[in-house]
Amino acid sequence: MAASDLINLSGLIDDAKCFALVRQHRWPEGVCCAACGSGAVIRDGHDDTQPCRQRYRCKTCSGRFDDLTGTVLAGHHQPLRVLVLCLYFMGLNLSNRQIALELGLDSSDTQAMTEQLRRGLAAKTPAVELTGEVEIGEAYVVAGHKGQPAAVAKRAGSGAGAGWRARRDAARWRRTSRPSSA
Ligand SMILES: [Zn+2]
Repeated sequence: MAASDLINLSGLIDDAKCFALVRQHRWPEGVCCAACGSGAVIRDGHDDTQPCRQRYRCKTCSGRFDDLTGTVLAGHHQPLRVLVLCLYFMGLNLSNRQIALELGLDSSDTQAMTEQLRRGLAAKTPAVELTGEVEIGEAYVVAGHKGQPAAVAKRAGSGAGAGWRARRDAARWRRTSRPSSA
């Protein structure tokens, strides 16, 4: 073992285990096609440069993919173990500089890596879905009168304004009253 392996944490971790970890998290019920989701998948050799990276072929759509296809971990020049450790350190709130020191990397390389991983993780976050009663701030913004100030003033004093006041009062009522059946 080279001396540099001992001073660098990533030298103590093996890629095979990191790929096993990715497979286990990605496909807890067994490998599925990255394109069509079919479970009819066969192994199809390994990556030319990363011997632990399993390739697959889908029997349903004939698509080819591997352990990292379509994930934030694909397309990096760093070995998977470096990315896994980087994610681990990001989870510990280490700064880019600290991560660079731990992994023995250039700080600008590390910054590019953490930014890309963070963007990828954010992209996987599902869109916020609001359910039940949702309260928003009561800000009434006049968008402009579009050259018709008199018409806008008239509407505000009658129908539209009254409608808004009714909605506001209803919102206030919902907020202050408690459901009796709860
Ligand atoms: Zn498929």
